[in-house]
Amino acid sequence: MLHILAEFFSAAARRYNQLTMNTATPRVPAIVLHKPLQALNTLGIAASATAYLPVSSYADLQAVRADQSLSTLPRLVLGGGSNLVLSSNFDGLVLHLVNQGKIVVGEDDNYTIVRAQAGENWHAFVQWTLNQNLPGLENLSLIPGSVGAAPIQNIGAYGSELKDFFHSLTYFDFATGEVCVLDRDACRFGYRDSIFKHELRNRAVILEVSFSFPRSWQPNLSYSELANEISARGLITPSAFEISEAVIAIRHRKLPDPAVIGNVGSFFKNPFVAHEIHGALKEKYPQLVSYPQADGSIKLAAGWLIDQCGWKGRSLGAAGVHEKQALVLINRGGASGADILKLAHAIHEDVRLRFGVTLEIEPVVI
Ligand SMILES: Cc1cc2nc3c(=O)[nH]c(=O)nc-3n(C[C@H](O)[C@H](O)[C@H](O)COP(=O)(O)OP(=O)(O)OC[C@H]3O[C@@H](n4cnc5c(N)ncnc54)[C@H](O)[C@@H]3O)c2cc1C
Repeated sequence: MLHILAEFFSAAARRYNQLTMNTATPRVPAIVLHKPLQALNTLGIAASATAYLPVSSYADLQAVRADQSLSTLPRLVLGGGSNLVLSSNFDGLVLHLVNQGKIVVGEDDNYTIVRAQAGENWHAFVQWTLNQNLPGLENLSLIPGSVGAAPIQNIGAYGSELKDFFHSLTYFDFATGEVCVLDRDACRFGYRDSIFKHELRNRAVILEVSFSFPRSWQPNLSYSELANEISARGLITPSAFEISEAVIAIRHRKLPDPAVIGNVGSFFKNPFVAHEIHGALKEKYPQLVSYPQADGSIKLAAGWLIDQCGWKGRSLGAAGVHEKQALVLINRGGASGADILKLAHAIHEDVRLRFGVTLEIEPVVI
């Protein structure tokens, strides 16, 4: 593993050094002005951007940075728009990652390393890895969005997280103009968290992501709903494909399709509380849904807390809470970002007053 790691890093650096030399005079990219963003965010909010650029290569970013009229604009990096709340029109430059491509870049007796460009669709990429006989990402099937955005919040579902199979990534640093490579530790992945939400916020544009697939694959059925679905299908030793199919079926049952009903999946993170607080809550609410963590803290199910406050299926104007899943806020048609945030605030306050627990919004609010 160490051997392919070292080779990988020097190859990435070589590739980008060549690019730097080839683009000494960066071309000015074709900017679109007053770009409507409704079709580019899964909440379907009718906002627009002052300027928009589909980014297909590192050279596009280099050109933006070299152009003073563009480099001074506020920037929004956009993938599939499935984890964004546009609270108003965006008065700046949207950089929409559309670069495509995925290849096996190295393998040894224990691991296979795969590299994918940021603009690749996440679910299509997962299916491609399964078709290459590289199991691992099956529990993360059908998560909307792009490969490039997946590390931002260390996407996770059904007992698995991106970091479990992450190898490294390459990003363009707007502050320095450099292309940098980060490995798993350097990304500081946490629960729906990474360095890109902190030090590298508003600075890094992820260009490509690499994954490491161990040859010794084991199914991950730690999440009881998935384990139940697998046994309901009569599967004793499920393949990665069969797990992917089960995950897809559960997600179709539970979550609204953003192509039909605007949403960003879970709107709030599951909150963590100390052992004593959990004990007090459990005494008062014996049905409390909670998951003990290895570090001694307890994760609460935000959806359960919201449901108990009576929000499931309710609306505030055109913004609503999904009928089947209290954690999912939806656009019932014509909701603005402000409408969605007003509803989120009302839910936040109800949960805080009733349970003394503070909910944190999961999507990025712009
Ligand atoms: C129905 C539904 C179900 C979902 N289920 C899950 C789930 O199970 N688990 C989960 O973790 N998430 C889930 N999500 C949330 C979402 O799909 C993920 O967070 C996804 O990774 C977002 O990808 P995106 O390309 O749409 O990002 P966007 O919404 O375009 O961007 C999200 C953030 O990442 C930044 N960003 C995007 N691309 C880049 C890049 N290349 N470089 C730097 N910054 C970038 C943006 O600036 C923004 O801050 C769900 C969403 C929906 C609509």
